[in-house]
Amino acid sequence: MADMMTDKPRVAVHKFSSCDGCQLAFLNMGDDLLTLLAQLEVVHFAEMGVVDETAEADIAFVEGSVFTAHDRERIQRIRRQSRYLITIGACATSGGVQALRNYADDGADWCQAIYASPQYIDSLATSTPIRQHVKVDFELWGCPINSRQLVALFNALLRGVKPAEQSEKVCLECKRNLNVCTLVASGQPCLGAVTRAGCGALCPRFGRDCYGCYGPSELPNAASLGRWFEGIGLSRAASRRRFKLIHSTAFEAQHRKEADDGAQS
Ligand code: SF4
Ligand code: SF4
Ligand code: SF4
Repeated sequence: MADMMTDKPRVAVHKFSSCDGCQLAFLNMGDDLLTLLAQLEVVHFAEMGVVDETAEADIAFVEGSVFTAHDRERIQRIRRQSRYLITIGACATSGGVQALRNYADDGADWCQAIYASPQYIDSLATSTPIRQHVKVDFELWGCPINSRQLVALFNALLRGVKPAEQSEKVCLECKRNLNVCTLVASGQPCLGAVTRAGCGALCPRFGRDCYGCYGPSELPNAASLGRWFEGIGLSRAASRRRFKLIHSTAFEAQHRKEADDGAQS
């Protein structure tokens, strides 16, 4: 997705099953948003007050997972009417926190327990990432994504350059920021060693352990970090749950891959 954009690319922002938090990264851009709006035409972005879901777009951003039958139909249409499709946030890239339902024997029980009027809930049995349904040209990970990621993405796209994928580990950002390591210094189960960078190591900067909201990094070694967690006092079950908070399906897939690789070696 590196060829030149039209003079004033048409941009759409679509919401699927999600909390809307990632869309705020656009609205929180500050002065950069004003600069961008002079270079783009926003054809659909309900949170900004521009509504035309069927508008054709050069770049369509998609927030949220596929969690209803309607989501499943809409994403096909949006793919057809969009030149490039970019997913934003954990819901869209790995199914999000709602993908925890994928592990429930009977998700209907959860609906009964959580909602006052569960008869109005009409969801699928699983929450799945957008790439599982249509071709995705680029993914921005995070829960939520941040405005810096968007500015970097637009800078690349508007110049016809392929956006750089961020896949190094939070630990590297953390070390560059000279943070004190929460895992080593205070025994907190920090997931920075297996989590994709991009947040600026936000949580360790404030003395908190990373809980993996940017998803798996390149070459994560989740099994090894899980053993480390057991060494600082977490039970095996608690250690596994630690990886399931936001990107349960992505980290679970990583655990399975490492188990398979271990079995073959
Ligand atoms: S990724 Fe997180 S912040 Fe973004 S829409 Fe999903 S739940 Fe909300
Ligand atoms: S605090 Fe977490 S992210 Fe920072 S270096 Fe330690 S393990 Fe890595
Ligand atoms: S440090 Fe980890 S949990 Fe905190 S914002 Fe960054 S990726 Fe998310």
